[in-house]
Amino acid sequence: MKRLILATRNAHKVTELHSILTAAGLDVELVGADAYPEIPDVKETGVTFAQNALLKAHTLAKATGLPAVADDSGLCVNVLGGAPGIFSARWAGRHGDDQANLDLLLAQLGDIADPHRAAHFACAAALALPDGTERVVEGRLEGTLRHARSGTGGFGYDPILQPLGETRTCAELTPDEKNAISHRGKAFRGLVPAVRELVG
Ligand code: IMP
Repeated sequence: MKRLILATRNAHKVTELHSILTAAGLDVELVGADAYPEIPDVKETGVTFAQNALLKAHTLAKATGLPAVADDSGLCVNVLGGAPGIFSARWAGRHGDDQANLDLLLAQLGDIADPHRAAHFACAAALALPDGTERVVEGRLEGTLRHARSGTGGFGYDPILQPLGETRTCAELTPDEKNAISHRGKAFRGLVPAVRELVG
């Protein structure tokens, strides 16, 4: 069986990509970056989701000699010109402080009325081979931003993003409902043909 490494220490992402590859009929062994603890985390120096995903995938592919998949994602708010974008995880200053990030964004948008609260989650998924071959695919989940949190599921900005056509926020969807429409699910599913072509 072919081995594929996913550039994340998040077990949920490994499970999600594995189920997408299996559903597509691909017989690939997927391992997380945790299987290679000696490889340091990659600095995300790119200025787009695609650049950061490619950077992580190439670094891991070169270090392990295996095909590598990486993703990079964030929330893009129209009225903020696409911000927080690649800065989503550290919008309030400290990396990964979801509560502070969300509080700051809600405060910034306090005076913005509903018709102007369009936003989307974006995700770039990249595949890189040790020889430098690369593919990258992007997925989006379009929606509008609530004025206050609703729901307890998910993570990050989920409690304030209401997908188009939904009455609930992402934090009120079941994990399966969110995966079916999510930016990450779309990007990973979009990468399946490249995995089939390049990895087997
Ligand atoms: P990463 O690409 O997994 O590092 O995600 C970057 C940041 O974007 C996260 O810390 C969240 O703030 C935000 N983000 C990305 N995807 C989602 C999502 O599905 N729901 C909520 N927030 C997200």
